[in-house]
Amino acid sequence: MTLKEVLAQEKENLLCSLRECVRIRSVREEAEEGAPYGRGVRACLDYTLSLAKSLGLHCGELGHQVGWCEYGEGNEMVAVLGHLDVVPEGDGWTVDPYQGVIRDGKIYGRGTMDDKGPTIASIYALSAIQRLGLPVRRRIRVLFGTNEETGSADMKYYRANGGEIPVAGFTPDGEYPLVNGEKGIVNVSFERDCVQRGALRIRKISGGTAPNVVPDTAFAELSCDAKTAEAVLTLKEKQVRLIKTEYGVRMDAVGVSAHGSTPWQGENAVGRLLLALHRLPFEGETGELIAFLAERIGMECRGESLGIHLHDDISGDLSLNLGVLQADETRWKLVINFRYPVTKRYSDCGPKLKQQFEAAGFMLTDEVHKECLYVPAESEMVKTLLAVYGEKTGLPAKPICIGGGTYAKMLPNIVAFGPIFPGDEVREHKPDEYMEIDRLMENADIFAEAMYRLAK
Ligand SMILES: [Zn+2]
Repeated sequence: MTLKEVLAQEKENLLCSLRECVRIRSVREEAEEGAPYGRGVRACLDYTLSLAKSLGLHCGELGHQVGWCEYGEGNEMVAVLGHLDVVPEGDGWTVDPYQGVIRDGKIYGRGTMDDKGPTIASIYALSAIQRLGLPVRRRIRVLFGTNEETGSADMKYYRANGGEIPVAGFTPDGEYPLVNGEKGIVNVSFERDCVQRGALRIRKISGGTAPNVVPDTAFAELSCDAKTAEAVLTLKEKQVRLIKTEYGVRMDAVGVSAHGSTPWQGENAVGRLLLALHRLPFEGETGELIAFLAERIGMECRGESLGIHLHDDISGDLSLNLGVLQADETRWKLVINFRYPVTKRYSDCGPKLKQQFEAAGFMLTDEVHKECLYVPAESEMVKTLLAVYGEKTGLPAKPICIGGGTYAKMLPNIVAFGPIFPGDEVREHKPDEYMEIDRLMENADIFAEAMYRLAK
């Protein structure tokens, strides 16, 4: 029998296991004794470990944070890294998000695609290899984490507590054909005080909700007397609206939202607001601050005027998104998300950005940096995985680079491989998340073959 045939025999069992897994609402909650991410997440980890045991696989776990099952012998280990935690269901579902409803050849439910479906499929794939007793010279381990959606502290724990590091492997938590490059991602926050003077002053500025989203609205409240207000109201800017208020003028800017990894697909409303403010006669520190932000960033999204623009042919441009701006009469706060190309370093851009903000009187108050990931297309691991994908699907098998970050960054020697096929609808994190049952089985077959070839 082939791996595919064994998996086909197990189809009903696989579906049944996935439904049971989906029925456990593994959304992060408050930590409890023995449940660092809450009771639901712990229950899902326990369920998955007992499933793997019932399939006859060797199991292990660390700190109720990461579980795994394993097959084979050898000093080296190859891994598949999935996760069992899910994002909250949110609104807009037409089916129960935690029932595992099967309809029209699809299984619906939170986690079916991200990432319970691929994880359960991986466990069945490993079980199929064991059933056929295929000879391997490396152990194969399917790891299931429990905190991917809210910070991946699970994998930090695994690494800090002696969890074995694979020599190769993949996380089925991205897309096909294969992601071999993920830009470095930095979220950086700056703050400064602002002493105002003159007839025109900032009362409040607010725009943006998260660093990784291009703001589509932003507003400023400007305090001034009636005469100054009249002058301000003559300003004409596209997508900026001015209205007279009892304190002076309110300015509203409209943009187009986009993901922070592709800011060029949107229009930054905060940047637009700053450009409009820059045309008004602010004095003193307020004027300096607005000039700095409008001239160095404005609506740019590649860091050009900050002098941090970087590019490589593999992953494209550095992206920059001014994601949040908040100000009141005395203090300004902002958060920038920038992502540098996979062959560049943080030291090529991060320090330069910081230095310019500090020169403009800002203080860096927070910085989170996720390094880039890059595995050359010529590497054995990438070639092996792409060969499996190409043979199984008959589709072009070229690796891709992305601006987002996947779970692959959390464990060395791992790349994102599957579960989403090119052109398929992406419903992860959305209402009515589903996985086509045929796609689930296709994934299981690809995973099984990929694991086996990496290990043999
Ligand atoms: Zn995921």
